[in-house]
Amino acid sequence: MSEFDLIRDYFRHATPARGDVLLGIGDDGALLQVPEGKQLAMSMDTLLVGRHFLSDVDPLTLGHKALAVNLSDLAAMGAQPAWAMLGISLPEDNQYWRAWLKSFMQGFAELAKQHEVQLVGGDTTRGDLSISIQVTGFVEPDKALRRDAAQVGDVVYVSGQIGDAALALLLENADAQERLDKPTPRLGLGQALAGVAHAAIDVSDGLLSDLQHICQASGVAACIHLENTPTPTRVKNYIQATANWQAVINGGDDYELLFTAPVLAQQTIKQIAQQQGIAVQAIGHIQQGSGVKIIMPDGQISEEVSSGYDHFK
Ligand code: ADP
Ligand code: MG
Repeated sequence: MSEFDLIRDYFRHATPARGDVLLGIGDDGALLQVPEGKQLAMSMDTLLVGRHFLSDVDPLTLGHKALAVNLSDLAAMGAQPAWAMLGISLPEDNQYWRAWLKSFMQGFAELAKQHEVQLVGGDTTRGDLSISIQVTGFVEPDKALRRDAAQVGDVVYVSGQIGDAALALLLENADAQERLDKPTPRLGLGQALAGVAHAAIDVSDGLLSDLQHICQASGVAACIHLENTPTPTRVKNYIQATANWQAVINGGDDYELLFTAPVLAQQTIKQIAQQQGIAVQAIGHIQQGSGVKIIMPDGQISEEVSSGYDHFK
């Protein structure tokens, strides 16, 4: 088996064929038709064995997650995904890794199909297992959701429910584990919010940490009510039993959208949530200043400093 067999067998026809791909896998580079009047949004994420996942992780799950975290970034930009590139390094050329790659690509392709994403190129090398994915999507000019666009007076919203990814790391729970392993990128919601919401980010480092990112980039402060944070019952039960609410707002990997929007957009946001079939909850607001204030259920104010994930800390 060679690198070329791998490419032919596992990458070339793995994902849907899009009309805007003039030349896909097989040449020195891909040729892509950019839709007239659109801007491109690009994002990339790397997953390393031992750091982002364990070596015995189910490759099918990993294939899904590796693409999902990238698509989640496009969702947070309000972009419609189109193309992906995959840089992968595999330890060996053997039956085991061939089977592994087959499963990995199956997980990748299932999600790619759902969102009409075509794999248009990449690179395959030998080395410690690592996966880099780059995705490109389209946005209307000036409609992209940016971290630096929050305004004083905005309402802070979060989609879906958070806390499952953190819970899965703290105790055994199959449903929480499923959400940690197979996150759902909120692409429809992100696109619907483009031009409506001000700032947005996907919750990958942790609710608190990611809200701090918005505040820093926008030069504002935020105040959120812990009680309003939407969490599944299993997470509520955990907090009640342990009082460890920090784990939940600091836990990353939920891949929900955290965004801010003007008070006047409240009705529109409600409609968007209904159309998208996803809950959207107001959890606080944007103020002048810096940092994030958390109002506890008893009314006390906590100025918790995030312990969200940082590779270089
Ligand atoms: P080159 O030597 O010109 O860099 P490669 O042999 O690396 O070309 O790749 C040949 C073709 O296969 C290219 O179109 C490249 O984009 C594609 N390709 C290689 N690895 C991957 C991968 N992991 N996923 C998707 N496409 C890949
Ligand atoms: Mg190459």
